[in-house]
Amino acid sequence: MQILTNPSDSVGAESESWQKTMRTAIRDVKSLRKRLNLPPDPTAAGAADSFELFAPLPFVDRIKPGDESDPLLLQLLPTAAEEQSPAHFLADPLQESDASLSTGVLKKYAGRALLIVTGACAIHCRYCFRRHFPYSDNSASGADLQDALTAIADDDSVEEVILSGGDPLTVVDQTLSNLIASLESIPHVRRIRIHTRLPIMIPSRVTDVFVELLKHSPLEKVVVIHANHANEFDADVAEALSKLKSTGATLLNQTVLLKGVNDDAQKLIELSKRLLSVGVMPYYLHQLDQVIGAAHFEVPEETGKRLITEMRAALPGFAVPRYVREIPGEPNKTVLA
Ligand SMILES: *Cc1c(COP(=O)(O)O)cnc(C)c1O
Ligand code: SF4
Repeated sequence: MQILTNPSDSVGAESESWQKTMRTAIRDVKSLRKRLNLPPDPTAAGAADSFELFAPLPFVDRIKPGDESDPLLLQLLPTAAEEQSPAHFLADPLQESDASLSTGVLKKYAGRALLIVTGACAIHCRYCFRRHFPYSDNSASGADLQDALTAIADDDSVEEVILSGGDPLTVVDQTLSNLIASLESIPHVRRIRIHTRLPIMIPSRVTDVFVELLKHSPLEKVVVIHANHANEFDADVAEALSKLKSTGATLLNQTVLLKGVNDDAQKLIELSKRLLSVGVMPYYLHQLDQVIGAAHFEVPEETGKRLITEMRAALPGFAVPRYVREIPGEPNKTVLA
């Protein structure tokens, strides 16, 4: 079995449409700004060098041209602000390098192991806490995958395996199929959870093959998407989510609280309503992890708590996400409100 870390690698002779969409993603600031009718920004070069831009066209098409403060644009556009980083913002704020069970497997929480399937993503989120993560040493690709699966098989406390990355849906269906079959063969693994932004970034990634694969797996299935703003949804995204739902998977969403993107009660309320309308339950609202380059996105916890109070007053209880932050060394994510 081999995990393909390069999303453009195809096992079949013909690559799928979503793989072509990965290959045609915008990867330089100049082209993106030009496409969106924004003036050139020569100050962004340093930020783009330290973490390159990656913006797939289906998502770019949901950004309003000419609007420098569009909430989708802010999530992916390198800016000079990233180079202003306070000393308490760190390269590995969650101390994940200490939680390794084997190469590519993190075990921080009871019963759950997180498998880093690949370092590749379908968007480079500027606030990502893994933006400095040494994926080339730490993803369970190739030969390391067998060791990662052995580590999971040897630890019978692991009931749930979280496929993460990077984004696990950047690997091809054949690879996922092999991986899921291996997990199905481990008796103590009951549940798989997939953490992915792909159904939003490139909805065509939810292929019929993948849908059938999930539908026929005897494991319990949870898919956790990551949306930060209601504008991320369009008809294609809704259709992709509806296909995922048809597999029997539980669909959840996590959001990161981001200054300028969603630090506003009305925007968060609108996001929750949009999620419900496409069959996804709001799960977490994350306090930003303090990673180098993301300080300008930070919202004070006091503001976050006030936003949750306003959401509670406007929404059914099940539509209000848990406001959490991850504190290294704690046995679970810490609920803030
Ligand atoms: C957040 C996280 C999990 C899952 O935590 P839940 O609270 O169950 O969503 C598992 N492993 C790691 C490394 C995590 O960061
Ligand atoms: S998709 Fe997830 S892992 Fe990838 S850059 Fe965004 S937040 Fe990070």
